[in-house]
Amino acid sequence: MSDRLAVLVTIVAVFLTAFDGVFIAGQQPRPGGEIRVLPPRGNIFMLAGGGANIVASVGRDGVLLVDTGTAEMGEKVLAAVRELSRQVTSSPMRQQSCVGLVHCQWWDGSRFLGTTVSPPAPRPIIGIINTSFDPDHMGGNAAIVNAGRSYGAREGEGAWVITHENAPKRAAQPSLVPSAALPTETYFGTDKKLNFVNGEGVVVWHRPTAHTDGDSVVQFRGSEVLAAGDVLNMANYPVIDIEKGGSVQGIVDAANWILDMAVVEHMMEGGTIIVPGHGRITDSADVAYYRDMVTIVRDRVREMIKRGMTLPQIKAAKLTRDYDPRFGRNPSWTPDMFIEAVYRSLNTKGKE
Ligand SMILES: [Zn+2]
Repeated sequence: MSDRLAVLVTIVAVFLTAFDGVFIAGQQPRPGGEIRVLPPRGNIFMLAGGGANIVASVGRDGVLLVDTGTAEMGEKVLAAVRELSRQVTSSPMRQQSCVGLVHCQWWDGSRFLGTTVSPPAPRPIIGIINTSFDPDHMGGNAAIVNAGRSYGAREGEGAWVITHENAPKRAAQPSLVPSAALPTETYFGTDKKLNFVNGEGVVVWHRPTAHTDGDSVVQFRGSEVLAAGDVLNMANYPVIDIEKGGSVQGIVDAANWILDMAVVEHMMEGGTIIVPGHGRITDSADVAYYRDMVTIVRDRVREMIKRGMTLPQIKAAKLTRDYDPRFGRNPSWTPDMFIEAVYRSLNTKGKE
């Protein structure tokens, strides 16, 4: 385990200034341009500081990324991923293919299974799953795709890119997305199962009408890690993009779905690790609190709409005052903006 902890690498990068500020971002790249790597569990890592949280599966098959941060931080993220991959795959891997069976050691051949289909080290970045096509989630795609290499079922020049079919249409400026950043594969319906990656099943789940109508949550079934994207946000109130098909009910539904999928260790604590789109790593207890917060604010706004109050009156009522110290500190997604999004997603009659 100490080897794994040694992978807690901090890579100091040069600060890049060009943030266009056009998009709603819960978490901008850090001043100083520092990418921090955290090891939530097993061979799953979280990279913070490149825009949205990035989740990386690193192992014998290569590197699979969930999201890639902003375009400005693309090269820094790439350098951090390469260093992480070098450190992880150059250390001997433990064999865990028959956990719990007494005669596990009788057959020693399993250690060779990975090597017959895997490329030699250093392992390539094989693919990207985008939880949305927001610029702080897919901006690094082009840099990463060009540096990657896919093989096997998805053989191709660079790394592959998978996202929900609605996501690319929801890009801030779809015509400006570089072709290398575009998905090589989209899915529709509720989910998309990938083949085993680095020894575990990976499933991409669509969560409809939440942050947008193209959000995905990525489940690492062996590691018990969920990469939730922007349906879960620990940095500020959920960003509900009404124009792009988002809704407050979709955020509540997504949080309830995460709670259904998660397994707890003790009471509501521990167990499945959930990485939000922005902010710190969470467990079921955090998600339940967040679900309750969104539900309570939704009900307060709904009650005021029922009483015939207008949007300016509802904003003036400061309905989120008790939660603002925790969620209301991001100047690019203020309590008023959240209240307006909730209002607009509930007030379908269009009268303001
Ligand atoms: Zn985001």
